[in-house]
Amino acid sequence: MILMLRLMNTPSGTFDAVPLEDLFPDAGVADFGRLRRSADEIDGVQVSGKPQVWEWFPQHVTFPGRAKAGTPEILLAEVSLYDEGGDWLEVSLDVEWTEDSLLRVCSAISVACWCEVDHNAHYIDPVERTVVGATSLADAFETAAGRFIQWLPGPRDPEFWRAHAGLSPRKHG
Ligand SMILES: [Zn+2]
Repeated sequence: MILMLRLMNTPSGTFDAVPLEDLFPDAGVADFGRLRRSADEIDGVQVSGKPQVWEWFPQHVTFPGRAKAGTPEILLAEVSLYDEGGDWLEVSLDVEWTEDSLLRVCSAISVACWCEVDHNAHYIDPVERTVVGATSLADAFETAAGRFIQWLPGPRDPEFWRAHAGLSPRKHG
């Protein structure tokens, strides 16, 4: 899904370029301040030393409806931790719509699949927080960003994460 979205002309940039007020018209100024602080923390732990690049999807500011295929993402951050010889490991953080037109913030590690049956990717230890009731966008974002921050300096070996999740190891030769 993410691959498909990338084929479109997706705006991207550092967090200060993200049009928060346009993307999240129902959130408040206090929420945006907390989102920016989380984004600053993410920038602070980048192994590359470069600020995080975010992508956003203005076409998903309003809920696109259940019939639409795939997960409608609004804001996305991805970091490749490993990408060699057909094997890869990636961490992601995104704000997206649920099927019930609620906002949800998710973070996960995804790793290449080496099962007998090809699943393409596996999502490991995902954290998801839906913006509903007492949970604000900032609450959900801080929780997901906290996990994302823990993963960035963590193990960069896809084999470590497949073993952690009980998945098939990579086949060699
Ligand atoms: Zn698999």
